[in-house]
Amino acid sequence: MPELAASPPPGAPTVPVALEYDGGDMDCGSGLLLAITSRMRRIDEGAVLLLHTRERSVLADLPAWARLAGHDLIAVVDDAADTAPGPWRLWIERGRTVTGALDRSVAADVEYSSGAPAPVGTRLWLYSNFHCNLACTYCCAASSPRAEPRLMSVETAVSAAEQFAQQGGRELLVTGGEPFLHPDLGELVARTAEHVPVTLLTNAMVYARGRRREALESFDRDRVTLQISLDSAGPELHDRQRGAGSHRRALEGIRLARELDFRVRVATTYLPEDALAAGDLHGTLADLGIAEEDRLIRPVAAEGYAEDGVEITLDTVEPEPTLTADGAWWHPVGVTNRHLRVADAPLPLAHVLDVVRDVVAVQAAAGSQGRSVFRCT
Ligand code: SF4
Repeated sequence: MPELAASPPPGAPTVPVALEYDGGDMDCGSGLLLAITSRMRRIDEGAVLLLHTRERSVLADLPAWARLAGHDLIAVVDDAADTAPGPWRLWIERGRTVTGALDRSVAADVEYSSGAPAPVGTRLWLYSNFHCNLACTYCCAASSPRAEPRLMSVETAVSAAEQFAQQGGRELLVTGGEPFLHPDLGELVARTAEHVPVTLLTNAMVYARGRRREALESFDRDRVTLQISLDSAGPELHDRQRGAGSHRRALEGIRLARELDFRVRVATTYLPEDALAAGDLHGTLADLGIAEEDRLIRPVAAEGYAEDGVEITLDTVEPEPTLTADGAWWHPVGVTNRHLRVADAPLPLAHVLDVVRDVVAVQAAAGSQGRSVFRCT
């Protein structure tokens, strides 16, 4: 973190500061908006946040954000005006924020279907762990057998599910990494599913035997859906992206899940130029007994290991609040992107959802256009 100015220059207000934050070189189009929204949520109405920044564009963008968000920008001071422009300090007084209450009442009545954005508060993502038996070329989480596991505890997951259900949550999506590598996945899924239906994302390669098979068989079929990755009808594209032999084992995993009477969604991921290489996916999925509404084709996102793909920013994707053991994020494909970090802890969930709602409300108030829906289920 850069050093902060030691003594206040002329013009600095003398108001007490409740919270101080160094935004470094982030701009309002990247992580700064989430970071300061999260911190404004932590201080009382009328209290002041002192923001440090080295990014000049913040001076133009932050007044507009403050006005839209209902806050007052009290003062801006250039800390080294006599030598060079910036860094700057901005004093922001928190106003009354009502977006959370408004949005929550709407969310409780809205039905959503595949392809439509889910209202904030109806769908929650949870990363159980980050390590994986594969290291796919496009993995947005940068997972691999050597990745740090970053295990979410069962207690954190259950608390999240409980808080989510209390707020009207409809669907919890547990992902990774490969969730079946979590040593306590059976308990984690069983207990979270008591509060809210769970969709469990998996590559379907590691649950055929042993205690993972036992965990799988123990899941409530009415409360747990499996979402399995299959990138092509034949092995070529799938194995190129996910590793030799992975296509065959994914098919075996899908068949086993169907035999065990699970509802199975299949998610396919590729770059536009690989669409033909995916082959007759629908034919293959029909043969496997996968319903049409349970087939999802999505683009690669330029996150994690992927060098090409859809750009993920606050303005290009609808929010899908996501919890990890060590934080909260705007979207599940953005968990390696510091600009998409919503909070430094997964709980309390109300704080995470309120921050996301605040940002959405400001975007709407600004008449922001051009966000596209990027769905992972
Ligand atoms: S995309 Fe899924 S299966 Fe592939 S490395 Fe990442 S977490 Fe593992």
